[in-house]
Amino acid sequence: MVQYQLPKLSYGYDELEPFIDTETMKIHHQKHHQAYVDGLNKSLEQVGSEFHPQYISSILSDLKSIPELGRSAVNFFGGGFENHRIFWETMTPNSEGEPGGKLEDSIDVYFDNFENFKKVFSKTATAIQGSGWCWLVFNPTYNKIEIITTQNQDSPWTVQKTPLLGLDVWEHAYYLKYQNKRPDYVKAWWNVVNWDYVGNRFSELSE
Ligand code: MN
Repeated sequence: MVQYQLPKLSYGYDELEPFIDTETMKIHHQKHHQAYVDGLNKSLEQVGSEFHPQYISSILSDLKSIPELGRSAVNFFGGGFENHRIFWETMTPNSEGEPGGKLEDSIDVYFDNFENFKKVFSKTATAIQGSGWCWLVFNPTYNKIEIITTQNQDSPWTVQKTPLLGLDVWEHAYYLKYQNKRPDYVKAWWNVVNWDYVGNRFSELSE
């Protein structure tokens, strides 16, 4: 890899309104995500790993490939970089509202039905103490989907799980519009989930 860059969004900052407000989108992408990009480039450089041959998700899966001195910084900024990249990709102004195909079937198997899945995911996301993420992941060891949480910017890759859908519950993701009302933010976010994208990711992984 050469240098990581801030990924472009495939929609405008105002297009997730009224669920996620323009100002939050702008600051979150241009300031917060940019800081993770810069921090990742800097932390790789500091340990002489700026030409690490693998993409950050592979590095996070095997942090031992980074000198110990820089591991914690690469974990934080690399996780922050990749988590946010996935976060933007898994949102859309044109949400289908619910998953279809194989993902729908799998959700029915492990969570009974989509409504119950939403309930469990929302409850899990709301209960995260402090800053972190709630995820729908694919667990390749057991060939199944799971809901997990990570603290701060830890990535599911660090526990050998593949992120399919991620919800950022750091206050910077919702405070301007929702203040301390995280449950309201979580409820609104369901309206912008890109189920097409999430379903395609799942289909590619589970043969
Ligand atoms: Mn964030």
